[in-house]
Amino acid sequence: MQDKIYDVIVIGAGMAGLTAAIYAVRANKKVLVLEGKTHGGQIITTFHIANYPGLPKVSGVDLMNSVYNQAKELGAEIEYAEVMKVKDEGEFKSVITEDFEDGSDEGKYLARTVIIATGSSERKLGLENEEKMTGRGISYCATCDGGFYKDKPVAVVGGGNTALYDALYLADVASKVYLVHRRNEFRGDAFLVDKLKTKENVEFVLESVPVKLIGEKKIEGLEVENLSHEKRTLTVDGIFVAVGRVPATEIFTKLKKDEGGYIEAGEDCHTNIDGVFVAGDCRTKNLRQLVTASGDGAVAATEAVHYLG
Ligand SMILES: Cc1cc2nc3c(=O)[nH]c(=O)nc-3n(C[C@H](O)[C@H](O)[C@H](O)COP(=O)(O)OP(=O)(O)OC[C@H]3O[C@@H](n4cnc5c(N)ncnc54)[C@H](O)[C@@H]3O)c2cc1C
Repeated sequence: MQDKIYDVIVIGAGMAGLTAAIYAVRANKKVLVLEGKTHGGQIITTFHIANYPGLPKVSGVDLMNSVYNQAKELGAEIEYAEVMKVKDEGEFKSVITEDFEDGSDEGKYLARTVIIATGSSERKLGLENEEKMTGRGISYCATCDGGFYKDKPVAVVGGGNTALYDALYLADVASKVYLVHRRNEFRGDAFLVDKLKTKENVEFVLESVPVKLIGEKKIEGLEVENLSHEKRTLTVDGIFVAVGRVPATEIFTKLKKDEGGYIEAGEDCHTNIDGVFVAGDCRTKNLRQLVTASGDGAVAATEAVHYLG
């Protein structure tokens, strides 16, 4: 069990978590990063990041592979397992992953400090069969899955920049793009809306919400309802959902959160529990971007190192 005791356990290998790991190992701490999916976090689906200082044309994958390699080469241990629970046991916090089985040491780690950097995940539509249909016509990433819908009709749901960019991208791939949005106006940038208006194969389906997924084994359509409660079925092979993100913080039941589920912390990244810090998109803050995620990672690790004394 001794070898499973760490000075710092970081949960999440996105920009915030990997930066925290870099700072903590450079302070000579024993560091483990636990990642539930693949390292890199939400940015890895983005082909072109234009606002990361010093790297004007980097892709999400290239940037995050580089940060990952840096953390690893400096000595951070990185394991792939989803964290299911964190228990505050005084001097140590126990971190339990999906690999944990009662009576064995597998999947249980002890840490003197924990840095939560779990980011956020896609908000779902909340429709029946949505989970079952994910990968069978429902997608949350147009740049990842758009290519599967060459010359086929698709719908994009949402009204922010992600939905608008998705619709633009898909307009060049799919035969037809329905852009479904619950309001009459978009939250996203006006220039994107103007660009979409020039695309002949894009149809705006406004003041309408999705109410039903059509199809048994794969998506065959999307039923939408407008403000007058009139229903219409859009015949589509794919539905791209871009209705925002939710913080991945459900498992942290003892931490103070705001009404949106974000873990409450100021710029020092301290939570309401001693020795537990939070960094990146899952924390209460105004700007959720790569630079603020890496800034948080550096701050949270430095605070953890001070806490360790
Ligand atoms: C489509 C899109 C485009 C964007 N474009 C830009 C851009 O151009 N410029 C920019 O600055 N920002 C951009 N952003 C925002 C940027 O990606 C985020 O601000 C940043 O990635 C946040 O990093 P993070 O480490 O806090 O969280 P994330 O990147 O979300 O990483 C969190 C990690 O934690 C893991 N995790 C979650 N729960 C658990 C658990 N229980 N156990 C183990 N692991 C867990 C996740 O799998 C994930 O790998 C974009 C975001 C999106 C969605």
